[in-house]
Amino acid sequence: MAQILDGRKYADLALDEAAAKVEALKKKGVTPGLAVILVGDDPASQTYVRSKGKACDRVGIYSRTLILAEDTTQAELEKLIMELNRDTQIDGILLQLPLPPHLDEQHALSCIAPEKDVDGFHALNAGRLMLSLEGVQPCTPKGILYMLRQGGIPIDGAHAVVVGRSNIVGKPTALLLLKENATVTLCHSHTPDLKEQTRQADILVAAVGKPQLITADMVKPGAAVIDVGINRVNGRLVGDVDFAGVSAVAGAISPVPGGVGLMTVAMLMDNVVSLAAARA
Ligand code: NAD
Repeated sequence: MAQILDGRKYADLALDEAAAKVEALKKKGVTPGLAVILVGDDPASQTYVRSKGKACDRVGIYSRTLILAEDTTQAELEKLIMELNRDTQIDGILLQLPLPPHLDEQHALSCIAPEKDVDGFHALNAGRLMLSLEGVQPCTPKGILYMLRQGGIPIDGAHAVVVGRSNIVGKPTALLLLKENATVTLCHSHTPDLKEQTRQADILVAAVGKPQLITADMVKPGAAVIDVGINRVNGRLVGDVDFAGVSAVAGAISPVPGGVGLMTVAMLMDNVVSLAAARA
């Protein structure tokens, strides 16, 4: 039976670390602040925004949630972002994605000041990651790396296979693993024989959004499997990995729920603290 990479345990640890840093900053008269913008009333996004607010309360970060109507215009959204860019109480600005289809996500993200880009989605921070320079790292990929380290999974020299090439998960995860000296294969919807690739993986990251995509026959015995997927099936939350089957083959596996999702929120807190420290 595989070792469980326990997101709750590792996220607790990361949140305690963030809380200690917040306390130290407060002693210097700095209270880190996060603004979360939510456009529309998507129930999943509302849940994520609530969990971010709760995490802020737990670690002592000042948080402000700004809820905009579904029919908000691009100009209105970007005006709000510009105001937050100038707001001295706010160190990090998070634009909850996805936006309603009439809004241009990339353009809105580009309006966030790079020094307040808490998700690391601004082109400048994405470029810094590409160049292996210091900068804000996207929360989910950063959480995956934190989880691997805490789980004692060797990264240096490992063959990592990442399935999914999105700008927010797959691509930055591949870059972070590469930075840690893994040999990285990045797979996507046009990869002809996915199983042939995934079976090579010492570390397998599934970030697709398709339940049961990764089955036991696709996993090398002893591999570490990180399930990023969040899918709702018959009202139940599941990942991209057939947990029951794969946990019998893998050396380590992260569950859904109780895995990467919690790490994402914890790393968000860490990013707010880092931005506040940099600004101070
Ligand atoms: P996305 O839709 O932007 O990207 C999905 C990727 O999967 C694409 O690159 C596509 O090429 C690839 N893909 C699609 N079908 C495939 C197939 N059959 N074989 C191989 N690759 C395939 O999604 P995303 O934003 O990267 O999110 C991926 C999943 O992770 C979703 O379930 C999302 O909800 C979840 N997610 C979880 C967290 C978290 O904190 N746990 C954070 C972000 C996203």
